[in-house]
Amino acid sequence: MTAPADPSGWNLRATYAALPDPFWERAEPARFPAPELVAWNAPLAESLGLAFPAGEPERRAHLARFATGAWLPPGAVPIAQAYAGHQYGHGTMLGDGRAILIGEQVSPAGESFDLHLKGAGQTPFSRRGDGRAALGPMLREFLVSEAMHALGIPSTRSLAVATTGEMIPRDGLKRGAVLVRTAASHIRVGTFEYAAALGDRTLLERLTDHAIARHDPDLTAEADRAALFLGRVVLRQARTIARWQSVGFVHGVMNTDNMAVSGETIDYGPCAFIDAFDPESVFSSIDRHGRYRYSQQPAIAQWNLARLAESLLPLMIAHEGDEALAVDRANELLGAFPAEHGRAWIQCFRAKLGLVAEERDDAALVRDLLAWMHAAKADFTSTFRALAEPSPVPDASRAEWDARWRARLARESDAGCSAPARMRAANPAVIARNHRVEAALAAAEAGDLAPFEALLAALRRPFAPTAADAALREPPPPEFCGYRTFCGT
Ligand code: AMP
Ligand code: MG
Repeated sequence: MTAPADPSGWNLRATYAALPDPFWERAEPARFPAPELVAWNAPLAESLGLAFPAGEPERRAHLARFATGAWLPPGAVPIAQAYAGHQYGHGTMLGDGRAILIGEQVSPAGESFDLHLKGAGQTPFSRRGDGRAALGPMLREFLVSEAMHALGIPSTRSLAVATTGEMIPRDGLKRGAVLVRTAASHIRVGTFEYAAALGDRTLLERLTDHAIARHDPDLTAEADRAALFLGRVVLRQARTIARWQSVGFVHGVMNTDNMAVSGETIDYGPCAFIDAFDPESVFSSIDRHGRYRYSQQPAIAQWNLARLAESLLPLMIAHEGDEALAVDRANELLGAFPAEHGRAWIQCFRAKLGLVAEERDDAALVRDLLAWMHAAKADFTSTFRALAEPSPVPDASRAEWDARWRARLARESDAGCSAPARMRAANPAVIARNHRVEAALAAAEAGDLAPFEALLAALRRPFAPTAADAALREPPPPEFCGYRTFCGT
């Protein structure tokens, strides 16, 4: 237990900023004309030890100043992190161009969370960008990250959104906003690519030890900790990607700078949940070749992890004393991905079918249902959720599959009696459907936050819908097909 540092609960430290200079640049938040609080995540705030009484105008004004960087909590050190990354396969130098890390809040439970102001102004890494963000995309990240968290999927979270009082050029003029994001850390595969490119093994080791201290402290004293850390990241990512697939999530822009070594889902840009199932679903308007489509996510994760392995190789060579041995070790660690992903994938989908026992043909049962859904253009979320309902077979084309599944359930030790309850706990009824998210954002843009708040409330209890959520559970109308998200965030 770490005691709160002051009566308001702030308990910041800045261990990333204690890394050597090349890893960050000092960055002051912009001065915004009129910060105004739009969203405050009270349950998250409370878990961080920031149990502010909500609602009072003075308090809201203070939180808006905090969210936009006009007021920094005690102990804050505002910096932009340096990183590189492979974007659509091409390596480049990046860095936080529109986000400022102010430090790590240590929660009453002793866990630390980065506090990151996304859209807080230009930094030394902004290149030609304005360092700003528009309200719609920041509320979108708030909704989707909270939805992922409620689904039990590792994710960064959203503490607050505040508008800045500025209008910014985004397809016309849009209201500027800042999102306060929390994360186990913002260390990306691209942070390691950057560290390796510095060509200084001591610096690479400093970053690795920092990441290990934060995510895998049990490895701190291991001589081959760089390799062991790589192995941990491989396993975490394998599980996270399987979880994405189990809810029909497409991240949309899995560049190496958008993959966290913590295993948390990060950087909600052109992401989306699939409605009618198609394994080749792509939502990002700039992903023309479908590099980041649903079915490709495990392969891309492995490609990204290979970039992490290359970056860590100098430390592994130093430990093994031999390059060929180090490369073999790296390949062996990367090779653990398919098995771990497969294990996590079948574990998720078994639960979705109400299965507990493990049978060899279970994977085929899952694949055949997915193939039926694809052929029938069936809604991913509703199809799985409906398995828990005592409804008739929806389609003659699925009768054979239903018979196989019912026979399989009958072989469970409870003969499938508790399967509906198990399935209701494994198959969300409410997901962040694109058409609902768009409608909530359009209303928020126009000053009406009620649809955003209703959707957020429903997304926070995805497995236990209420009658009030009925409309939010409906698949989109047909004219919504071919939905695309835009990266101009
Ligand atoms: P993203 O596509 O959001 O992962 O961002 C890719 C890179 O572009 C990161 O280095 C961002 O910091 C940078 N970036 C995105 N938008 C802006 C902006 N409006 N101003 C400056 N940099 C930006
Ligand atoms: Mg990014």
